[in-house]
Amino acid sequence: MNSTEIKEKLLANWEEIKNTCREEFDISSVSYEIFIYPLDILDVKDHTIMIYFNTNKKKNFVGTVTLDRKARPSLSAIIPLYLDQSEDYEIVFYSPEEAEEYLNGPKTAALSQENQKPVSSAKNSNLNPRYTFDTFVVGNNNSMAHAAALAVAEAPGEFYNPLYIYGGVGLGKTHLMHAIAHYAMEQHERKQADLPEKDRVPFNVMYVTSEVFTNELIEAIRGGKSDIATAEFRNKYRNVDMLLIDDIQFIIGKDRTQEEFFHTFNSLFGKNRQMIISSDKPPREFAQIEERLLSRFEMGLTVDIQMPDYETRMAILRNKAEADHLRLDDKIFDYIATNIKSNIRELEGALNKINVYSRLKHVEITPELAEEALKDLISPNENGVAITPELIMKIVSDYYGITVEDLLSTKKSRDISVPRQITMYLIRAYTHEKYDQIGMLLGGRDHTTVISGVRKIEEDMRNDPTTANTVEALSKRIKPE
Ligand code: ADP
Ligand code: MG
Repeated sequence: MNSTEIKEKLLANWEEIKNTCREEFDISSVSYEIFIYPLDILDVKDHTIMIYFNTNKKKNFVGTVTLDRKARPSLSAIIPLYLDQSEDYEIVFYSPEEAEEYLNGPKTAALSQENQKPVSSAKNSNLNPRYTFDTFVVGNNNSMAHAAALAVAEAPGEFYNPLYIYGGVGLGKTHLMHAIAHYAMEQHERKQADLPEKDRVPFNVMYVTSEVFTNELIEAIRGGKSDIATAEFRNKYRNVDMLLIDDIQFIIGKDRTQEEFFHTFNSLFGKNRQMIISSDKPPREFAQIEERLLSRFEMGLTVDIQMPDYETRMAILRNKAEADHLRLDDKIFDYIATNIKSNIRELEGALNKINVYSRLKHVEITPELAEEALKDLISPNENGVAITPELIMKIVSDYYGITVEDLLSTKKSRDISVPRQITMYLIRAYTHEKYDQIGMLLGGRDHTTVISGVRKIEEDMRNDPTTANTVEALSKRIKPE
């Protein structure tokens, strides 16, 4: 593996690696928060892995000596499991200041960089190199979002501005956004390569989460010379060629940030600069959104990403396994795809778990091993928590990526009504509740509604293998064997 491959691999699995450290080394959640969670990958050179303490995640830096003691043992055991095990790696910890200097060069050197004219650059981007269009599997659930993303990446600022992408957790919003940024930069670079050097212009892409946007704004306002700092902040965001703001939901309701974002938006929009926004809901569903911001969001195109169907889940698993050089029995893919539905990050996590498990135990990956490795993920109620209607509602809503409130609500759309009927069926099957009681629990529904819901699921289970599979997967979560 070369440095780039190592880095990609680490970035792609970083959260999982840290979690494995926690689990395998029994790190308490307090220690984890302080020593492991704030660590991020800075870079990889030869076989040296540079890890820095990210103060955006935790304010108080604990010192590299402490990291040596607290973080090195677990990381140096777990990291190689995700890489080529026949090679050696060295881990070096960087303080926040060292990391900053590594990325931007020593402060005084800023001037000498001036004549290096960048053709395209992603400011502060930490774009994940793996999140490209090439690695994005297109299915029924995301084809609109994918097409819109590609259109915007090909001709930034021309079609839909802003492009607003929404959907549940782990369904590929961030992946698509990074893909747009990578694509737009590459394309710009290709076009520029044909021009004489003096005519080349830069193309600045900025990707931030709305949390970073908010934090930077707060810093700017708080700084003593607040006018200058605020001006710098504005300068930074209002002069980019493409702005991608991920998870915008975190700024809705924060008045000052919303206001600042509104002006940033107008400034960029006026210059035809492409904006891409992601969120967990469509703009209209934010109770606290300012009307003028809402109307801005709706000026462009709003697309959603839904949960992937079985075929798409299988395709994603196969792709990911291939990229990881994992060869697995088809039964294992089917097992994962049948049991994990609502979150692609979980799908990938399942593959990683199997992989790490087999490496830790030095055993081949068989369907039985896969089941064993995924026990916690797929049947979390192994330890036999009492089965209550509340537990069932929680398990069903988690599974579908909806909320318990959705189950109780009056919403009638299929994505809610089917899980609701399945909940009725499962409560009936696992508890002693009577029909009218189940109706009460599920938002005050009539007992006849419950009876017909349960009948409907019974019938579907006979006629439709998907329903039967779903009920089986859920049953395992509620009551393992
Ligand atoms: P979100 O931002 O919506 O929470 P992410 O973009 O972080 O979700 O996606 C979670 C994980 O799932 C990432 O590792 C991503 O690469 C992967 N993923 C999501 N959608 C797809 C897809 N259509 N094809 C391949 N991988 C995907
Ligand atoms: Mg995301």
